[in-house]
Amino acid sequence: MSLIVQKFGGSSVRDAQRLRNVAGIIAETYLEGNDVIVVLSAQGDTTDDLIAKAEEINPRASKREMDMLLSTGEQISVALCAMALESMGLPCVSLTAWQVGIQSTTVHADARIKKIDPERIQSELDQHRIVIVTGFQGVDRNGDVTTLGRGGSDTSAVALAAAFRADLCQIYTDVDGVYTTDPRVVPNARKLAEITYDEMLELASQGAQVLHNRSVELAKKFRVNLEVLSSLERKPGTKVKEVAKVEKTNIAGVAKDTSIARIALIGLEHNPGVAFQVFDLLSKHNINVDVILQSIGREETKDITFTLHRKDLEEAEEVLNEHKAALRFDHIETDAGIGKVSIVGVGLISNCGVAAKMFEALYEAGINIQMINTSEIRVSVLLDEEDVNRAVKAVHAKFFDEI
Ligand code: ADP
Ligand code: ASP
Ligand code: MG
Repeated sequence: MSLIVQKFGGSSVRDAQRLRNVAGIIAETYLEGNDVIVVLSAQGDTTDDLIAKAEEINPRASKREMDMLLSTGEQISVALCAMALESMGLPCVSLTAWQVGIQSTTVHADARIKKIDPERIQSELDQHRIVIVTGFQGVDRNGDVTTLGRGGSDTSAVALAAAFRADLCQIYTDVDGVYTTDPRVVPNARKLAEITYDEMLELASQGAQVLHNRSVELAKKFRVNLEVLSSLERKPGTKVKEVAKVEKTNIAGVAKDTSIARIALIGLEHNPGVAFQVFDLLSKHNINVDVILQSIGREETKDITFTLHRKDLEEAEEVLNEHKAALRFDHIETDAGIGKVSIVGVGLISNCGVAAKMFEALYEAGINIQMINTSEIRVSVLLDEEDVNRAVKAVHAKFFDEI
């Protein structure tokens, strides 16, 4: 007997028919003699619809109230799924994060799981019930509901798998595994049988939404046996693990991110402490920045350009302008239409030929690069958002069609 965590995403629980299909997968796993913890996302576009509802009422609603609203989507899914299993005569119970005791930080809309109380789930498993838990939610030390960031149900599932030392954590979604790039952009992308935690983490962090990046971080830390597979087709998916069998000659994949904005602070004083002041201020407002570039401007001044998530642009601009006198910059320039394309591969980036090959593909497609950023296993380029899909196709073709 094993303990298996099964997570089903929004499209897998979209309607009654899909929920019955999911109940069938869960039932099969349970009837084989396994303990099963299920984690569900909100149905279909429910989370987006709830955001639209909030915007109708107050486009600047507090993050606390947004969490209160958005967390309801997952509650609908777990109750309906439990009803589907009940109708099949299977013992089950649906639980919210509050009932389970999924303790998180207090950062609304981007909370991190700190600890999961084992008692409730363990007692339900001991009574041979299938436990169905709301994904995406946490509860902070004030007893308030938090959410883990968009796509966060994957992280709920991996955190539960880690906390209960599950034998396997299966992420069921609308694709049958992790591909060399988003198969919706490049239809001939290849499915990977295996991928390393490190490569998957980079791909997810660079926008491959098939897994929430923090779920991969947790899986690596706690050595969770992770698998991505389809809820609609019964076939092997992709295993995410420490060491993967890969084609040593190639990168693992190409990722894209189109939710980026850029801010340039022009005319800062060229003194020590300026960058510290700027980024300390942003971090105090929980605004994460990604690529940073500093350049020397005219007349002993410098410019600092950085990218951030588009949802944070307005707040960042406001905060920086409020502190204009202290930071002493001349003016701010912003661009909300930035995209990023990244290639990821263990051990390949130290090979400068790989970056050159990527740049060659972009040159051949006539795409202009705005900024470049690298890590040990990644090269990213920032470009106009409208060039992103073309860039993904060109780069993917260069690495996967010309072998
Ligand atoms: P779920 O609702 O099940 O959580 P998501 O929409 O969050 O599903 O993630 C699945 C989607 O991720 C796929 O439909 C696909 O378009 C996209 N995707 C992006 N990059 C990749 C990739 N490299 N491999 C597979 N899917 C990817
Ligand atoms: N329902 C949430 C979202 O749409 C969480 C998730 O699906 O993972 O972002
Ligand atoms: Mg998802």
